[in-house]
This record gives sequence, structure tokens and C-alpha cells, in this order.
Amino acid sequence: MASNANSQRSPLDDQTVLVSHDRLFKIDQLRALNIGKYVPLPQLVAVGDQSSGKSSLLETLTQIPFPRGQELCTRYATQITHRRDNMSFIGISIIPGPQASAEHRENLESFFRQVGNTAQLQAEFPAILDEVNSRMGIRTASNPAGKHTFSEDVLKIEKCGPDEDYLTVIDVPGIFRTTTEGITTESDKKMVRDMVINYIKDPRTIILAVLPANVDVATQEILALAEHYDKAGERTLGVLTKSDLLTERSAKASVCALVLGHRKPLKLGYYIVRNRGGDDDDADSDLAKREDMFRQQPWCDLPAERVGVTALRQCLQGLLGEITDQAFPLIQTQLRDMLAETQRSLDFLGASRKTSQEQRQYLATIAGRFQELVRAALDGDYSKSRAFEDGNLRLITMIVQLTEWFDRTFRKSSHTYLFVKQKGLDEDDADPEEPQKISDINTSLYPELKRLLCNDWTISPPVHGIMTWIGSIHNDFRGISLGTVSPVMLASAFRGQSVKWELIAKQYVSLVIMAVHQFIMKGLENVCNCPIVRQRLAAALLSRLLTTYEGALKQAMLLVEIETQRKPYTLNHYFNSNMQKVRGLKMKDQLAPHAEAIQRTPNEAPLYVRLENVSSVVENKGNAEYAREEIHDTLRAYYKVASKRFVDYVYYQAVDHCLLTGPENPLLLFSEKWVLGLDDGKLASISGENQQTTIRRAKLEKKVQDLKEAIEIL
Ligand code: GDP
Ligand code: MG
Repeated sequence: MASNANSQRSPLDDQTVLVSHDRLFKIDQLRALNIGKYVPLPQLVAVGDQSSGKSSLLETLTQIPFPRGQELCTRYATQITHRRDNMSFIGISIIPGPQASAEHRENLESFFRQVGNTAQLQAEFPAILDEVNSRMGIRTASNPAGKHTFSEDVLKIEKCGPDEDYLTVIDVPGIFRTTTEGITTESDKKMVRDMVINYIKDPRTIILAVLPANVDVATQEILALAEHYDKAGERTLGVLTKSDLLTERSAKASVCALVLGHRKPLKLGYYIVRNRGGDDDDADSDLAKREDMFRQQPWCDLPAERVGVTALRQCLQGLLGEITDQAFPLIQTQLRDMLAETQRSLDFLGASRKTSQEQRQYLATIAGRFQELVRAALDGDYSKSRAFEDGNLRLITMIVQLTEWFDRTFRKSSHTYLFVKQKGLDEDDADPEEPQKISDINTSLYPELKRLLCNDWTISPPVHGIMTWIGSIHNDFRGISLGTVSPVMLASAFRGQSVKWELIAKQYVSLVIMAVHQFIMKGLENVCNCPIVRQRLAAALLSRLLTTYEGALKQAMLLVEIETQRKPYTLNHYFNSNMQKVRGLKMKDQLAPHAEAIQRTPNEAPLYVRLENVSSVVENKGNAEYAREEIHDTLRAYYKVASKRFVDYVYYQAVDHCLLTGPENPLLLFSEKWVLGLDDGKLASISGENQQTTIRRAKLEKKVQDLKEAIEIL
């Protein structure tokens, strides 16, 4: 009988078997290094329905007695690995599942058993499995207290010896479709399915789709699942078990049709095997004797390379070689990526910090980096570090923006009353404008600042009615004085006009403090990788930071006090020139209606006023009205000068000196000098490391070393 060779190929036909030998050997070396712990290496996984014969098949393949049988249905994945070693032994351990808690993980990782050979394993297996079940928390007859039916933890059986070959096989729980009350739940069903998918989706997995020959293949969901994850069908093999249980000729013919590729063909085809039956006790019960059956009709007519476990094993080794060839680049990349990542985690932990000296060195290095960042941020030299990709670290730019906001808000909104419009004067202070909002600062970000900073973020715009208001001041303060505006009156008017200064200054300085604080906190994140150290450092710095912030606010408030509560005075000549400018403009306004052109020339003809008209125009005003206007104009001229002076001083003294560049500024606080001044106790409380970190570092160092070696091998 000829096989349908077109639709099926045996991996043994390929020349790649020879090519991949070298790679298989390398993979084997990786396994010896235990790299499989980090990166999945090529492996075989038996999947199929419950009781389809998966465990039995793997036992036949590996000669390791798997737990099998109906009542012992697989509750967790079992991985059997072969590793070349000078000593011969079998090691049994448990790999914790991905969701395992730290406690569970520890309990599992502390489990290890070693036996000398397969016979001993067989003898001790029941006891070992009891222990494994109880560690994993699986509910069984001998462990009724167990909480779970299935587990994502993996039982690992490692067979070591000088002649072991490359095979790694995995037995997973069988997929089931209906749940059994009191035993299996919907979530068990999903967990098992996910577990199976997790294995078969990996391109390094050869899928052994185990199909009982005595059940219609059309009912076997596993084929569809395998097809979904192995679209090309390049790593899925059908393995027919329980062929000895077939009695009817038509049933046998139907199985032969599968093997020959006449029915439901698979790219890699089907193999037919006979495992130990439930009634055969002896594990070694002669395989050859069992397979005698294949000499009879109709099995003897099938192509020999499709029948029996020897043929299957041969095929698998060839296939494993192919898969290894394909997986090789992926493994290499993964190892490299993992090395880089592990190295990063290691760097993240920083150098070992057990002694005071190590701790001081560690912290001083961080402080040095921080000061570098501060210098670049103040110089606006953002090309110095990638840290500045975060806009929140571009400190000086933020300060400039805030200061511009402050200046504009001051010009537009700091006065209580709008001044009277005067043509020819710049009219910043006479046009009402809604104060500009500063929106990109999140005031709730740093609760530690809440107590300190401004909590009123509204600014009311200036209102109309200045002359009426000045009138009432004039009435209240009128004394016996001639001509000029009395200083008391002016002081009172100025106080009234500048009541918002305190709030605006407080808002501005608060915003700057926030920007500085944010810079310091984010800056620490940039220079110190360890979140714990960072946290402790921030806590250690906080009270002194708050003192400097408070100092800046105090300075601003002092300036407010000086400016608004003292008698108005200035030496600035702009005051007088402003006064005179206003007088001139006013006179021009008053004379304008009396101006006439002497010649009737078009357009730009010069205008003239008769001299005798001048005195009548200017004299024509009551005392009170004249005084009010004088107060208004003096107030405006002085307000302009004083507010400019104030804005400058707040920036120079409260912001620049107290917060950015003065000798006590908060940015300087975390410096190498500060670190050197810490006593050993304080130092240890900030940068000392706990035992966990020490252990973690050791683990990472080992991993880095393993991975480097592995990359070397490849
Ligand atoms: P699993 O749930 O897929 O792991 O199935 P098991 O390997 O535990 O097998 C279930 C039952 O079928 C066991 O009692 C096995 O002895 C039996 N069995 C498996 N393969 C064969 C086979 O080829 N022939 C016979 N007669 N019994 C088998
Ligand atoms: Mg099983």
C-alpha cells in the first residue's frame, strides 16, 4: 500500500537533521546552564482530551513513569527534561506558576528530591507526588485540605546522565469540555485551556496532538486548536493511541485512512503507537511485545515510518532539529534582550551598599549627578541630558513663563480700580481684562506643600469708578492744605489701589516653589534609580526644603509690606516725567476744542490756539475737581513706578535669590557637601539596603553571568 506522500512529509527526509545537530548540541548546553528557566527552549508538548493517553505516550517516549490513569488525571503540567551531566540521577523540583505569591513561590522552590534511577523513581513516585500535590495545594484523596483542582505550577523532572539526549517533553492537563460538579469549575476549564494554549502558541513547541484511535477524530477539539496556533502546520503531529482497543474492521480502516492522509490530513501526518494499557502493571512491560500487534493486518500495510514509538521518536528528533534551527535566531535575540534587561535591573539597584563608605559613595554620586542636572536646568542647557525630554525639568524656561505671567497679570490686573483713560498714554491700566489663568500647574501634586502655598487662585479684574472712590478719599482726608496732594491722602489711595498685590505675589511665588519642588522630585527620579532610596532622600530633605520655600514667601510678603504700607516715595525720575506727560496730554485735550487752522490748507495743517483762551480753559475748574484729578494723576504716575519696582524685587529677591541662585537656595540642598555631612546612622537610614535587595542583586548577578555564558555558547 502506497502512502500519500504528497500531502505528508517526514522530517527525516530533510537534510537539515545534520545541519541542526550542532545547534541541538548548543541548545543542550544551554539547558545544562539552566537557561530554560529564563527562555523557553525547543520542547515537545503532549496535548489532547482527558484520558486520550498523553501521559502514557510520554512515558512510552521517555521511559519515565508518568502518573497516569483516569483517577490520576494530570492536574498540572509536568516537564521532563534530559540534561547531560557526569553524574546519573533524576532531580524533581517545582517551577512556580506566573501568579504564585511570594510565600507560595518560596514553599515550592524549597522542594527538591533526587533519586538515582528510573526504578527508584517509580518506587518513590507516589510519595513524591503526594508531597508535590500538597505543596501546590491540590485537592486529592490523600490531601483533602487542598484548595485547587488544577495548578499553574509545573512539576519538573530532570533526568541527568552522560548519555542523555536533547528531548524535553511536557505533559499538560487534558482539555475538558464539561465541568463536573464538586470537582471542576468553569474557571478550571479556562485555566487548563489557557495553559495548553500558552504552550502551543510558542513557535518553539512541537505539538503532539494525542488522539485516541477508538474515538472519532472529528470530535477532538485539539486539532482545531493546534491548527489555530500553528497555522502552517509545521509543528503539529497527530499521535493515535489505544489502537489495540479497536476491534471492528471498519474502525481500523478508518484509522488507517488517517495515517495514510486520506482523511483529515495533517501536514506532518499521523503516527500510530500503543501505550501501556490500564491493566498492564509493569512499566517495562515489554514494548516490543506490545508493538507485535503492528505486524498484523491492517497495520502491517501502513508505511513503517508511521508506526510504533521508535519511528515516532526518530521523527521527533528530526523535527526538534528543524524547530531548533528556526528558533535559534529568536533564542539569540531573547537572550540578548533579557541580558540587557537584567543588566538594567542590576544597574537600577546600584552598587552594593553595605558599609558606610559604600553608602556615602553611592549617595554622593547621586548628589553629584543631581547638581549637574541643576546647573544644566538653570543654564537652559537642555542638550546636556535626556532627562530634559520631560518638560517639567526645563526649570528656567518654566520660571521665565511664570515670571511673564506675573508681570502681565500685574500690569493688567493688580490695581483695584481702572485708571481713567488718557489718550496718548499707554493704557495697560485702563482697559479691563480678565486675568490670565495659569493652568498647567497641578497644585494637588505635592500634598506636602499644601500648608505652605497659596490656596486662592482667583484674581478679580480691576473695576470702574476710580473718580468716585478718589472723591470719597478726598472727602475723608480733607485738611487744610493748599495746592499739592497731601501725602496722607496719597498713601491711603495707594493702599486701596494695591490690595491685590499680596495675593498676586503669593500666587506667583507659590507657582515658582511648585516648579522648583517638582524639578527636585523629578530630578531625583532621574539621578536615583532606587525608589526606596529616593523616597527616603525626599523625606530627609523635605523639612529643609520647606524652610527655604517659606523663606521665599516671607521675602515676598516683606516686599508687599514695604511697598504698600509705607509713605509713597520714589527717586525714580520716571515718576516726574510721567506726571508731566499726563499734564501735557490733558492740556492738549482741553485746548483742542479751541484750536483753529489759520490757513485753509488741506489735511495736516498746523493748529493754533489764541493765547487769551489758554487761561480761561485751564482755570475753569472747581477746587475739589482739580484736587481729585491731581490725586488720580499722581496715583497713576506713582503706581506705575512702584509696581514696576515691586515686580522686579519680587523676582530678584524672593524668586531668584531665595529659590534659584542664592547661597541658601533649595536646589543646592542635595549636594555632595550635604552627603559628606551626614552621620553614619542617618546615612544608613537613607541609602542602606535591606537583605532582600542584597539577595536580589546576587540573583541578578548570577542571571547576568548565565546569560552571558549562554550568548557565548551561541
Ligand atoms: P491522559 O489523561 O491523556 O494523560 O491519559 P493517560 O495517559 O492517563 O491514559 C488514560 C488511560 O488510558 C490509562 O489508563 C492508560 O493506561 C490508557 N491508555 C493510554 N494509552 C493507551 C493505549 O495505547 N492502549 C491502551 N490499551 N490503553 C491506553
Ligand atoms: Mg495525563
